[in-house]
Amino acid sequence: MQIEPAKNLMPAGTQLPANEVSEALARRLRAETQGEVLFDAGSRGRYATDASIYQIMPVGVLVPRTEQDIAIAIDIARDLKVPVLPRGAGTSQCGQTTGAALVIDTSKHFRKVLAVDAEQRSATVEPGLVLDHLNAQLKPLGLWYPVDVSTSAQATLGGMAGNNSCGSRSIAYGNMVHNVLGASAWLSDGTLVDFGPVASLGARAAAIASHVQQLALQHRAEIAANWPKVMRRVAGYNLDIFDNQSEKPYTNDGSVNLAHLLIGAEGTLAFTRQLTLRLAELPRTKVLGVVNFPTFRAAMDAAQHLVKLGPTAVELVDRTMIELSLANPAFRPTMQAALIGQPAAILLVEFSGADKSALLAKLKALTELMGDLGLPDSVVTLTDDAPQKALWEVRKAGLNIMMSLKGDGKPVSFIEDCAVPLESLAEYTDALTDVFAKHGTRGTWYAHASVGTLHVRPILDMRAGGAAKMRAIAEEASLLVRQYKGAFSGEHGDGLCRGEWIAWQFGPAINEAFRSIKHELDPINLFNPGKIIDPPRMDDTSLFRFAPPSAARPYKRIPLTPVLDWSAWNVQADPVTEVTTAPGTGGDVTGGFAAAVEMCNNNGHCRKFDAGTMCPSYRVTRDEQHLTRGRANTLRLAVSGQLGPNAFTSTAMHETMDLCVGCKGCKRDCPTGVDMARMKIEFLAHYKAEHGHTLQDRLVARLPEYAAAASRVPWLMNLRDALPGAAWLSEKLLGFSARRSLPKWRSDTFWRSAELATLATRQQALAAAATNGKAAVLFVDTFNGTFESENAWAAVRVLQAAGYAVHSVAKDGGHHCCGRTYLARGMVDAAKARAGALIDALLPFAQAGIAIVGLEPSCLLTLRDEALVMGLGADAVTVSAQALMFEEFIAREAKAGRFAIDLKAAGKPILLHGHCHQKAFGAVSAILDVLKLIPGAQPELIESSCCGMAGSFGYEASHHAVSMQMAELSLLPAVRQRPDAIIVADGTSCRHQIADGTQREAIHVARLLASLLGPEPSARPPAH
Ligand SMILES: Cc1cc2nc3c(=O)[nH]c(=O)nc-3n(C[C@H](O)[C@H](O)[C@H](O)COP(=O)(O)OP(=O)(O)OC[C@H]3O[C@@H](n4cnc5c(N)ncnc54)[C@H](O)[C@@H]3O)c2cc1C
Ligand code: SF4
Ligand code: SF4
Repeated sequence: MQIEPAKNLMPAGTQLPANEVSEALARRLRAETQGEVLFDAGSRGRYATDASIYQIMPVGVLVPRTEQDIAIAIDIARDLKVPVLPRGAGTSQCGQTTGAALVIDTSKHFRKVLAVDAEQRSATVEPGLVLDHLNAQLKPLGLWYPVDVSTSAQATLGGMAGNNSCGSRSIAYGNMVHNVLGASAWLSDGTLVDFGPVASLGARAAAIASHVQQLALQHRAEIAANWPKVMRRVAGYNLDIFDNQSEKPYTNDGSVNLAHLLIGAEGTLAFTRQLTLRLAELPRTKVLGVVNFPTFRAAMDAAQHLVKLGPTAVELVDRTMIELSLANPAFRPTMQAALIGQPAAILLVEFSGADKSALLAKLKALTELMGDLGLPDSVVTLTDDAPQKALWEVRKAGLNIMMSLKGDGKPVSFIEDCAVPLESLAEYTDALTDVFAKHGTRGTWYAHASVGTLHVRPILDMRAGGAAKMRAIAEEASLLVRQYKGAFSGEHGDGLCRGEWIAWQFGPAINEAFRSIKHELDPINLFNPGKIIDPPRMDDTSLFRFAPPSAARPYKRIPLTPVLDWSAWNVQADPVTEVTTAPGTGGDVTGGFAAAVEMCNNNGHCRKFDAGTMCPSYRVTRDEQHLTRGRANTLRLAVSGQLGPNAFTSTAMHETMDLCVGCKGCKRDCPTGVDMARMKIEFLAHYKAEHGHTLQDRLVARLPEYAAAASRVPWLMNLRDALPGAAWLSEKLLGFSARRSLPKWRSDTFWRSAELATLATRQQALAAAATNGKAAVLFVDTFNGTFESENAWAAVRVLQAAGYAVHSVAKDGGHHCCGRTYLARGMVDAAKARAGALIDALLPFAQAGIAIVGLEPSCLLTLRDEALVMGLGADAVTVSAQALMFEEFIAREAKAGRFAIDLKAAGKPILLHGHCHQKAFGAVSAILDVLKLIPGAQPELIESSCCGMAGSFGYEASHHAVSMQMAELSLLPAVRQRPDAIIVADGTSCRHQIADGTQREAIHVARLLASLLGPEPSARPPAH
């Protein structure tokens, strides 16, 4: 059958329509839908990339609110001949979510589980629902959706279906295609069609089924000859639903389900409205056998035998990953516990089911099998949940560390999911390793050994020679895949980087059959053109995010003199050894700032809602603009001139950075270490230099300068919250929210207290350090010194009770300051002056090895963070090495056996809220350790993101609502749920937020400890 080529609207999906068309599209969408219509350059730029190496500017973006919005948008786009690109989380690795189209983002408003049938084990869901969120709702029913992709916290079911996604446990459960029972979807002519079992289709769906069945019959011989016979084949369309070629049949009873045609179609055939999914029983128990191998090849050879034991996962961790894990103090114990000697690779072999004893028998069989294979005593067995979970976390984190390589060369995903039969796995991996070496690069291997899909990413610099190397490696890899009868695209789809390999994989006849399928469902090529059918070349550099100089629009950084030191990112890395050059030598004309921004590889991890802090502004808005990724993309486009002149200091950029609360959640949680809080300081410095500081900026930033004087007239300073109308006026004139009280001024500051005499002098502290090491310098910050001096005194009393000589630094007439408030308003020079003076004052103590102990997380941790990038030299490094939070100091000393005090029992439960910066620096566990010093205490940590106050952020009228929403996500409900508990929060703004939101007092851990000091009754009344 000769197929007419589809009447292309946009042949490759890469060219933008004329301006009038875009304008008409935006106009009509605004008039006819209720959705958010985003056509500005920044929004389009934020939707121009996914987790691939590609970038294509979309025509515009629609964030629909209702199903009708989607249907209308499809109609309007068809009228105006503008392609449509459906999108979930945008975490695809092959460029399938990029295109010159109207992008329709379902992830914000289409998140519902519509129905669950526990008995039949099925659920119907909207396409924008995230997998983890579905599974959280299924858990109470003892069910789950078992396609457990690594991006489960972000990936939407619509996107998973679009990509035919596969999880770590696919050997037991199959891919997405094996677990979809039905779909309802719009075709490009606007018809809404139900796709399901062929026996019960409506007229339109039946016609499609008959067309596909005929094609399958017609191409029977080619299918038999060319179709990869592995389960992990996700390329092309699922023409084989009528002639099964998969190792695992698509349905249990051999029947045909037309919904499977849409799975893996990458949004090219229809726009999915709803999906009905096959659920599985949640495994009641799991065990893990860690097999240690002396050589990588031995591990690869063993996989084919291990799968015969019926595991639910067999995952590889190679030597590089093992080394990376061992190098990280947090992961070392877990990894060490899994190792026997120094293996070249380990395989994590998981068994799960209902009956533990049956699983233990499987572990025994595993040990015996390894003995038979000549590797006795090679298995470490983990039967408890906690160590198993810890090891899976380590495997994930190892990948993250690998992805954080600095320099222009990055691990690139383009052959990372070729699937080969297990018998050939060892030969394939050996041969591909040789290919990498031939091209001057190297790959780290990990992941799904059970199904012959090992992930591997060679390091390539796409701006310099990467395109040619990528093609050469892909071509050689493809020959290997063919030699071993595997699938070139075995997990991540085709998109732009594998589309051209579809014809290679299946041959011209089947490729034409795919075209015919596209023609049958989408004859006008409306949906995601240029994917699967008529794809561009994978190495078309005009589609690269970082296009080389030879491309029509090469990626170019605009020179910029940064105010902070970003030289650590201004490096290049050796693609084989991964050793980086010295800081500052990478040739970045922005001093490393752009290179730091470019670390965001769009993996979308910041779209998470689970434990951790990142990213509170996204958690409440669900807007790509207010997400770490969205900000990094906007910055990247701006500093490379892609958003027009002066975009970096534009008001549009300010809007994008505005809701970043500087919580540093991303610094810790982002796999590649994108530190948006620091980037915001850099941005603000440039923005304010151009636009000037507001009066509010000056009042907030200079608080440490006027605090001493202001605290002499507290009655005057507090009038704002006492005089009727004053708060209203402060909102109108200064932008401080009238709904917030401000911190209360008082005259009895720390520095005016008679108790100052109880502090050790400089000489006494140095002498104590020299004799018994029991000395500390308390850094009393502006907030704890001025507004809550009882916290500072509580800390002094606790440390003195434990026998420490406590000294504190002050300067003429007042206190030192770390510069935090200035940084928050982009006044980096002023911050540097303040921090520099503080460091000078602390230096002699730090040099003597005396700990610098702080109470306010954001102030003390400035010494360990921003102070190191403000050009303060080696002194800052010396001081930073001794800077510890109060609780970190106590935990350290207690562990060393130097800290002991008598404490009374608290008599109440203790609930802890960690400040974001404490979380970012891993300092929360120390508070728990310290709280456990209280007799009988079992402190509970509130799983919360940012409290929403974030310094002065929540005090601003323009941020009040967002601030309260952040607090209401988990912190305030958790506090309300425990009216009987003592609430511990070390951050001054966190305490204020808790008081505003729940009318409960939260206290600093120092106050709690001081109030429980015994047997002497505390000099001051208990704090709670
Ligand atoms: C670090 C990392 C790890 C990964 N691990 C895995 C893994 O373990 N297993 C795996 O399979 N993949 C993995 N991926 C790839 C990716 O995360 C998955 O394919 C994921 O399921 C995509 O979901 P999404 O919501 O981001 O989809 P998107 O990227 O938004 O979309 C995917 C495709 O589906 C189409 N689509 C989206 N919504 C619809 C709709 N309503 N109707 C029709 N078409 C639609 C899109 O057009 C696109 O072609 C990984 C990616 C990264 C970055
Ligand atoms: S900011 Fe970090 S977590 Fe978010 S997409 Fe970029 S790299 Fe991933
Ligand atoms: S600092 Fe916090 S709010 Fe800002 S991008 Fe990072 S996680 Fe989001």
